[in-house]
Amino acid sequence: MALPREAPALMRRHLRRRCVQCGLSADAIPASQPMECPRCGCDLSERPPRSYAQMEGLDAAAPARDVERALSDARVQAAATRWLMVVGAVLAAGIGGLAAMLWAASH
Ligand SMILES: [Zn+2]
Repeated sequence: MALPREAPALMRRHLRRRCVQCGLSADAIPASQPMECPRCGCDLSERPPRSYAQMEGLDAAAPARDVERALSDARVQAAATRWLMVVGAVLAAGIGGLAAMLWAASH
């Protein structure tokens, strides 16, 4: 399952398929020898690479929904952060303007 790059690191780690014998990432298994792990020689036709989520029975449709939810949460957090930065900048500019007006009025 190809995950988007924005998916949280922990999510990607749980969904990355690995050799069940040595833990080599399935991405590192060359297409030229798809049935044998290049690191440990595990027979991948007998024991195909699996993710942590698959081994724990958490696979099927759930990861896609979880990824969508995590991405949605990340987008909401990013929007809230941007909004707070704008409000903070406006407040800082307002306070600065007031301070400048007060300083100019007292001199
Ligand atoms: Zn292996």
